[in-house]
This record gives sequence, C-alpha cells and structure tokens, in this order.
Amino acid sequence: MRTGQINVQTENIFPIIKKFLYSDHEIFLRELVSNAVDATQKLKVLAANGEYKGDLGDLKVEVLLDREAKTLTIRDYGIGMTDEEIDKYINQIAFSGAEEFVNQYQGKEGAEQIIGHFGLGFYSAFMVAERVQIRTLSRHEGAKAVQWESNGSPEFTITEIEKTQRGTDIVLYLNEEAEEFNDKNRIQGILSKYCKFLPIPVFFGTKTEYIDSPEGEKDDKGNVKRVAIEVPNQVNNVKPAWTIAPASLTEEDYQSFYRELYPSTFDAPLFNIHLNVDYPFNLTGILYFPKIKENVEVQRNKINLYSNQVFITDSVEEIVPEFLTLLHGVIDSPDIPLNVSRSYLQSDSNVKKISSHITKKVADKLAEMFQKDRKDFEEKWNDLYLFVQYGMLSDEKFAEKAKPFALVKNTEGSFFTMEEYLEKIKALQTNKSEEQIVLYTSDAEGQFSYVKQAKDRGYDVLVLDGPLASHWIQKLEQQQEKVRFSRVDSDSLDKLIDKGEEIPSKLSKSEEEKLKPLFEEAVNKEKYTVQLESMPESEAPILITQPEFIRRMMEQQRMGGGGFYGAFPEMYQLVINENHPVMSKLLKMKSPRQKETVKQLVDLAMLSQGLLKGEALTDFIHRSVNGMVES
Ligand code: ADP
Repeated sequence: MRTGQINVQTENIFPIIKKFLYSDHEIFLRELVSNAVDATQKLKVLAANGEYKGDLGDLKVEVLLDREAKTLTIRDYGIGMTDEEIDKYINQIAFSGAEEFVNQYQGKEGAEQIIGHFGLGFYSAFMVAERVQIRTLSRHEGAKAVQWESNGSPEFTITEIEKTQRGTDIVLYLNEEAEEFNDKNRIQGILSKYCKFLPIPVFFGTKTEYIDSPEGEKDDKGNVKRVAIEVPNQVNNVKPAWTIAPASLTEEDYQSFYRELYPSTFDAPLFNIHLNVDYPFNLTGILYFPKIKENVEVQRNKINLYSNQVFITDSVEEIVPEFLTLLHGVIDSPDIPLNVSRSYLQSDSNVKKISSHITKKVADKLAEMFQKDRKDFEEKWNDLYLFVQYGMLSDEKFAEKAKPFALVKNTEGSFFTMEEYLEKIKALQTNKSEEQIVLYTSDAEGQFSYVKQAKDRGYDVLVLDGPLASHWIQKLEQQQEKVRFSRVDSDSLDKLIDKGEEIPSKLSKSEEEKLKPLFEEAVNKEKYTVQLESMPESEAPILITQPEFIRRMMEQQRMGGGGFYGAFPEMYQLVINENHPVMSKLLKMKSPRQKETVKQLVDLAMLSQGLLKGEALTDFIHRSVNGMVES
C-alpha cells in the first residue's frame, strides 16, 4: 500500500466541487457511466486494431445499488487502469484550468453541464460520496489489480487487491446528504434521463438482483456474499434511430423513436428531418415537426442535446434559432463546445454553423414537401403555419427561404403562395397608386357582412388569423413592394381599394351638413368619428370601421405583453353611406322618430361588427320589439 496527495492547484478542490454543483448533483452518475462507456469503447477499438488480443467477453456497464451498505457501484469491463495510469489520469489533475473553471462558474447556471468536459468528471463522485474506491484491473497482460481510495481530501491510498475480471469498479459510499440517491427509482430516473441512448448496454440492478463478480466478494466477517441470479434491467437503447443510416429506417421506425423519446406525448409528429453531417462539423440527429398548437410555450424545449449519445441538456436555445425550439427531437454533436458558458455558445463559430445548417435543412425540407406533393402540404398547413410564420418573423434567412412555400388561404379555402395570390388579385385589387390591396379577415364569421360586401364586388378575401397574424402581415408587406394588407372592416371598400372613381352623392351640401350631427349625437365622440361617404346605394347604410394601423398597433401591444397597453384608445369610424335610400328619408323625419331611427341604424351597424353588448344590446332588443308592437 502507498499513500499520496492528489495533485491539485486549488487547496482542496472537493469542497468546492461539492458546493458549486449544489443544484444538480445527479450528473455524477452521467459522468461515471460515461467514463465506463468510454473505457469499454476504447477496449473495442484496441481489439479492432489488434492491440488487444484477449477475449472481449460481454461488454456492458453495470450500475449496482446496495441499499443496505449505501454504496453505488459503476462497473465496466473496459480497459481498466494500472497503478501508473491511476497516477497519471486520476492523481494528477493536470488540469490547469481547474481553478479558473471553479472561479468562473461557481454557482452559475449551467456549470453542472460542463464539468465533465473539464476533466473533472470522475471527481464529481465526491458530490455524493464520502469515500470513493476505484477497483481496477488493466487490460495489460500480467497487470496487477489495484484499489485507489480517497475520502475527498487530497490524500489517497493505493493497495493491491484481488480482482480477476478486467475492467473497473467505481464504488461510491454515499454521504449523508446524498440519501436521495440510495433509492432505486431515483437512480433509475437519472439513468433514463442521461444514459438512455448510450452506445454500450447499461444495466441497473439493486443488490439482491445483481450478479456479483465471479470471484465472489467477501463481507466484513469474511463470508462469501450470496448472489441472487437475477439479471438487472438494461436501461438503454444502444442504437437509437439517429445513429442509423436514414436509408435503413422506415416511417414506422421514426414514429416509434418519437414515442421512445416522448412516451407521454399523445400527438404523432407531422414529419421529420434526419440530420447527418460530418463536415465541416459533426452533427447527427432527428428533428420532428409536431402539430404546432396556439399555446406554443408548452411545446417548447423538447429538443434534446446529446454529445456522442450522452444526454447533455434539453435547453438548446443557444444552439438553434429560437423558432426551431418549437421542434422536437435529438441533436447529437461532439462539436458543440460544452466547456464554455452558455452565453458564449452563441458566438462560437461551430455553433453558428450548426445553427444555420439546421435552419437551412428545415427550410429545404419544407420546400421539398411543397414541391413533391402540394396537396398534402396544404393539408398540413394548418398545423404548420404558426411555425413558418414564427420562423419568418424571427429569422431573416428563413424568411427568404420560406417565401416560395409560405401559404395564404382565402375564405373559399384555396391556398396560394404570395406570388400566386398577387397575380390572382392584380386585375381587380389594384388602386389608383398602383398598389395591390390584399383584403383579409381575421374572423370570417364575425366579419361576415364585410366579407360579403367585398366578395359581391368580385374581390377576394384572405383568412389571416392566429396569434402572429398581425406581425406576419407586416412581414409580408415588407417583403413585397407596393402591396398593402387591409382588413375588410378597416374602411369602406371604395377607400380600401381607391380606384379614383368618384360616385356622385345624392345629397346636397346642406343635407350633408344636417345629416352628420344627427349621428354625432348618437355615439360616444371619444370612441367614434363620423364620416359621410358617397358609396353605392346597394351597400350598407352604415359601416363601423377601424383603421388598419390603429388596430395593428393595438394588437401588437397586446401581443407584446402590454407595456403600452392603453396608450392607444380604441377608436372606430362610423361611415355613413350618403346614397343609401334611408338617409334621404331620415332627413325628412321629425324628432323623436328621427332620433330613434338614427339610434336604430347605429345599433344595427354595431351589431354587425359585434360591438353591441350588455345594456346597449338589451335596449336595442326592447326597442325593436316595441317597434313591432307599435306599427
Ligand atoms: P475525462 O473523462 O473528462 O477525461 P475524468 O475525470 O472523468 O475526466 O476521468 C479522467 C481519466 O480517468 C479518464 O480520461 C480516463 O483515462 C480515466 N478513467 C476514468 N474512469 C475510467 C474507467 N472506468 N476505466 C478506465 N479509465 C477511466
């Protein structure tokens, strides 16, 4: 036996490790199991190169919990370590950055994600253990099995031990604060979070279940331990779909992998993209398009980031553009630097390349689907449009790429690209300044009368709804020169598409001057401005409109969370159709009939815009019924 000092620059690194990883102690298991997997894979490589000639045996990793002894053992049958290797890899934390790392990341969010990548993975064991043993037999012929032990101070001991099986046992004697890990479900949970797709079979069992080492361990009294021959459970799938060549996967394989990733998600995804790049960076993965619901937040952050099949995190905001966080699936890249802070990630050149590669792939996939089977694409559009709109609004490159497949739908249910649509409406919906006016409704039912009037004139009306509609419309206007979007109820049709054709008024100047105040008296002046207009006789006597820009401002304020909310008062226009026959009649009436008729006309207009509510609505109904009784 010999003793020594672990070579660390920091006075005593363990308390620091323990402390600053306070938030996420569970990752110790990921680190230790990853080390075990690495040691196993290294052995496979050596064997493949002919450098290891022994029998590989059953290569697996076992995690064994002994609840009574409060130990957790991570066992592999990999390359093992000699005495010298322990010195080199464990005792010399020849890691100049350790101190810097600790100073820089202490207590910071995300630190636990990156510790393993600073070569401190093994030492994370001391977050949960008061004593750690490494019991290992190297692959080298004639190697002696050794046990390294430390209690978390920089002192360690090394002793020779009996161990005939090649590989390493890391034995953790759980400390008092780590009681939670002396629990089968807890360990199972951690393993299925981090180790679900490791490339070497990982088994988990509790003491009574595991097959002990062949030589038979002895307990304190020297008795050979009894072993129940019960096979522990395998916790992982060593060949998850993203590691398999796309050509050998069926649609069903993709679907079932989705269910494997999200066992509790009910909806099947719409389609997927298999990512596979090896130059200039390494990236594999599968991204799934879920049906995007209006409540996008619950669907966010379901992309899991892996590094060589080790789960790292499910928050990938810094790695993919924001709109892509709506997708589900897996990204696996060893080229995403994990030893930098999260905020630094975004400026990393590999991350930038990965991010724009994914954006491009997603756009290409959508374009391909659109070209291959437009009808199918149109059917999916309802579930897709929010994603595409979000992407176009938040990512300029995506916006450019999405132009050819971003669709709009009209009230008849036909789909168009913007280019097709502008062509369609060119003849009728161009105003005197050569602007094309796109008419739309946000609610075909609620704005029915306006939609109908527009259609009666031969105009086409788009349905643009959804939470992003008003922002998206702005985007489309920016993309197209000389195109304006106007909601059908934002003005009279002649103003909306002003072709410069004057309709002569039937009223004289003095009649106009009498008519206007009648209506001004009937409405709340702070909310409504009255405006006379010479419109076709056949159109509504009164329209209530809300100017496009005011409404958009209000909508966007509401979306933006309301800092300004209320800065814009709710304003409407009461547009009076001078040419409607009822107007000349009205002028001839005497009060109180005249007043009542005005009131009735205004209420009817409000009713058709859904603005007549509460007491005003009840009054209106009373008045209408009374009118029937009286006449
Ligand atoms: P890292 O894995 O980042 O290098 P660790 O502190 O986790 O840092 O491990 C340090 C080194 O110890 C590893 O690089 C490896 O050489 C050795 N090691 C750790 N665990 C094992 C194991 N189970 N089998 C063989 N070698 C191991």
